[in-house]
Amino acid sequence: MSEFEKNVLSMLETINIKLDTLIKSEGAKKNVSVSTSSTSSKTIKPSNIVEKQEEEEKLEAKPIIEGRRICPNCNGTAFNTVEDKSQVLHQMGGIKIYAKKYICKSCGFEL
Ligand SMILES: [Zn+2]
Repeated sequence: MSEFEKNVLSMLETINIKLDTLIKSEGAKKNVSVSTSSTSSKTIKPSNIVEKQEEEEKLEAKPIIEGRRICPNCNGTAFNTVEDKSQVLHQMGGIKIYAKKYICKSCGFEL
């Protein structure tokens, strides 16, 4: 074996060792990134579900506002919207937001 070939072999060996450490560190990095991405996707998913639930709640709430509220007493659909001052939903800067009460125009039934 010539001196050149020995040099090349030793160089290849050092390259091999460096590649091994690189691959190992890359693998470690990948493992870390995989675990973080899986945890981040886990954190994203519940919020997506919450957003979907909130959207569904909005979708469910809208038709009621649009007048599909039906009086359980007389099946009337016409209501007066009144602020229920006994129920404060939210208070901010001295402004109170009261719960809404729906009073049937036909029979006076309170929803
Ligand atoms: Zn009614």
